[in-house]
Amino acid sequence: MVANFRIRRSSRARYLSIQVHPPGLVEIVVPRRMPVREVESFVSAHAAWIRETCTGMNRRHHDPGTGPPARIRLGVLDREWSVSYNANPRARRRVAESGTGLEVFGANDDTARRRALFDWLRRKARAFMVPAVGALALETGLRPRAIQIRAQRSRWGSCSSNKTLSLNLCLLFLEPELVRYLLIHELCHLRHMNHSPRFWALVEQFSPDGRILDQRLNDGWTRIPGWLLAEL
Ligand SMILES: [Zn+2]
Repeated sequence: MVANFRIRRSSRARYLSIQVHPPGLVEIVVPRRMPVREVESFVSAHAAWIRETCTGMNRRHHDPGTGPPARIRLGVLDREWSVSYNANPRARRRVAESGTGLEVFGANDDTARRRALFDWLRRKARAFMVPAVGALALETGLRPRAIQIRAQRSRWGSCSSNKTLSLNLCLLFLEPELVRYLLIHELCHLRHMNHSPRFWALVEQFSPDGRILDQRLNDGWTRIPGWLLAEL
């Protein structure tokens, strides 16, 4: 069997390509009208490479378990919660937070529990990101029109041409300096929609170690717990 991969048909793709999304998902992007036979022969020709890539990524990942967690640590806030699960299956799905404890209510199954915690994380992400971006907007003079919280495996953030910042809620698991850098990086795209030398000069004005932090972000996905990845 070839490891964990999925096939995505794209109307824009002109050729077959392989995209790797840590930790351990390989996506084969296929032009919309390409016959299945051609896709199959491409996959089997690259089977060994796909398998090795997935195994390598899984080995480096800190927490491959996908069951609902007993603890959640959000690096950017330097806070940790212990998580308990209420056994009443008729309770409305929600998470009650008090101090360093979280109590999860709702159906007694892994999917519902992960879902409840996912919704809680999304709220945490918004509550953190909006003021954090606001403070950096003052510091840099670069202000987005809107902020979106996304949940995805493929990127930490992006900036659209209509000046909307999209930020991955997985950022909550990273250290403050990495998150600060990523926010500055995306804000600088409000002025330069590219990675030109002028873009990097602007980034380094506010984050002198920007390029080093950018490299460190590549490994940031190893901090994302397995239960959350199961939701993405
Ligand atoms: Zn960029």
